[in-house]
Amino acid sequence: MPELPEVETVRRGLEQKLNNFIIKKVEICRDSTVAFPTNKQEFINGLRNSLIYKWDRRGKYLIAKLKEVQNDNSQFPLKNSQNNGFLVVHLRMTGYFKFLENSTQPCKHTRIRFFDKNNNELRYIDVRSFGKIWWIKEELSPNKIIKGLGSLGPEPFSREFDADYLKKVISKRTKSIKAVLLDQTIVAGIGNIYADESLYSAGISPFREARTIKKNELINLKESIVDVLKKSIGSGGTTFSDFRNLEGEHGNFGLKTNVYRRTGKECLKCRNLIEKKKIAGRSTHWCPNCQK
Ligand SMILES: [Zn+2]
Repeated sequence: MPELPEVETVRRGLEQKLNNFIIKKVEICRDSTVAFPTNKQEFINGLRNSLIYKWDRRGKYLIAKLKEVQNDNSQFPLKNSQNNGFLVVHLRMTGYFKFLENSTQPCKHTRIRFFDKNNNELRYIDVRSFGKIWWIKEELSPNKIIKGLGSLGPEPFSREFDADYLKKVISKRTKSIKAVLLDQTIVAGIGNIYADESLYSAGISPFREARTIKKNELINLKESIVDVLKKSIGSGGTTFSDFRNLEGEHGNFGLKTNVYRRTGKECLKCRNLIEKKKIAGRSTHWCPNCQK
């Protein structure tokens, strides 16, 4: 699943590629990809004549701000135009966007197609189809309609996310620290890869009961999380997730991992062998010697 760095990479790509993209036509190829509104025609009609003018990210959600553009000859920047709500996207396991100048025949995994007046296409493709797209009109609140979005914990880069915050939220948790980091209501955007990498970097065992972790270790963990995520954003994500860029390409974003999927290989710090075990159903990779 794409995690925060991959979603952030997609967000930056969308922002670069979609310059003043005004949706003129929407084609839904698979109904279940549209999570809201439940009436598909309302989704199609509501998005028509929408300018996508800003892409934000919250956790693993992409959030596009929309403006209503009724006149094709509108000059940019638009003045006094009405907001038209938000287009929200969660890529889940295998969702990705492809931008096509001069649209071509879609592949069978195409779920939704957005066209502008010049027939440029923003295509949403999703092999396993767990991804969802919402159009939240102006009068409604994305945080209320999308439960997972409304309940997200702070962003790892926000000021709110520090050792004091962590101490407070984990003080009574008997779950493992790995499970806690995967909990999106505690911190937004971290998945399996970056949980393992951050804990390795901080020297904390993923199996530790969260409440037993001391303040100085939490300071270290917070710094490790930020550091690991920033490095990964800088290189466009890791090679391991199923994520693709807007050209539909898979590889070459390769941030190499230090511990994730390195089972049986030598630890880069101590040369002990990296081990793997499941926690809460997720494969967890760690060095028993470096992580206590
Ligand atoms: Zn080690």
